[in-house]
Amino acid sequence: MAEVKKIAVIAGDGIGPEVVAEAEKVLKRTEELFGYRFETEHALFGGIAIDEKGTPLPQETLEVCQNADAVLLGAVGGPKWDSNPAELRPETGLLGIRKALGLFSNLRPAVVFDCLKDASTLKPEVLEGTDLIVVRELTGGIYFGEKYRRETENGQQAVDTCAYTVNEVERIVRQAFEIAQKRRKKLASVDKANVLESSRLWREVVIRVAADYPDVELEHVLVDNCAMQLLRRPSSFDVIVTENMFGDILSDEAAMLTGSIGMLSSASLGAGSFGLYEPVHGSAPDIAGQNLANPIATILSVALMLRMTFGYADAADSIEKAVAEVLDAGHRTSDIAVDKSSAIGTIAMGDLIVATM
Ligand code: ATP
Ligand code: MG
Repeated sequence: MAEVKKIAVIAGDGIGPEVVAEAEKVLKRTEELFGYRFETEHALFGGIAIDEKGTPLPQETLEVCQNADAVLLGAVGGPKWDSNPAELRPETGLLGIRKALGLFSNLRPAVVFDCLKDASTLKPEVLEGTDLIVVRELTGGIYFGEKYRRETENGQQAVDTCAYTVNEVERIVRQAFEIAQKRRKKLASVDKANVLESSRLWREVVIRVAADYPDVELEHVLVDNCAMQLLRRPSSFDVIVTENMFGDILSDEAAMLTGSIGMLSSASLGAGSFGLYEPVHGSAPDIAGQNLANPIATILSVALMLRMTFGYADAADSIEKAVAEVLDAGHRTSDIAVDKSSAIGTIAMGDLIVATM
């Protein structure tokens, strides 16, 4: 019998509970088909936790996550909590949970589904074969560096500092090399080493670490060039690793190659195999509670979890193939439907994917 894997499930707010419910059906089906065993424990987080517990990240939720092998998160936030003070905002809980769980990288795959190629703004022949993953550093760089304002002879000046230590760079670069080893063995390290000192350090570390991964083909790409190449030859990328701000921008750009936000999964990882998996989209309050949300982003996040944290590639393949087959058969939720009148709901999409696995 397979070892029991513990999954903390945080449904959250808005469409979070709706899409997570479909992802849990997929987990259940995975147990039946492959003999894996999952123990799920639900916990309150975000707006619903503010309402019921007076804080976005209750201590017991953190403990459930810390005792789990992986976390599945729906989405948090909504207009109800937007004007709250910082400590009572769902987003504060997100930063807190990443920090408490030591998650230092964010992974976003961008896969083009053949049947959705027409939905993209790029030409189908450019998109053909695109299957890349952006690995973004999450805890350092300019977003977390010293910031201040000062008076100068020429008026007020604002300063943001971009800082990285060797260790911060090395841990994420090693992670990216290891991910590349399990894929097509190509790594693009993105920096701005022609101008930034932090990028020169980044590149030095990448070159040193690369010696330990001789089977991975490495290229250094300047960030401005990378932004261009993502639109020109997206299929030539396999794994892209980069610092926090560059990754923030490039991962949004890469996301748009594939069309709808309702299709995009993500993982946040730290040291070891533990990870937090969630759709890229937010809580979408405008469509919450109406069985309209596309559950595919969350279902693909489950596939990512099975592959990356548990090493269950067979189950992950089965889920990804089922999603592709259901789309190929023409089934669409309204966000990806050309003809909205024929669109199906959240639950029907989940059921079709489960039945196709
Ligand atoms: P956040 O700040 O949490 O990212 P947001 O309001 O900026 O939230 P989303 O909540 O992702 O962004 O919503 C952006 C738009 O995309 C909304 O119109 C929403 O309805 C739509 N959307 C988001 N997720 C889905 C989904 N899974 N299925 C269908 N539409 C979605
Ligand atoms: Mg937003």
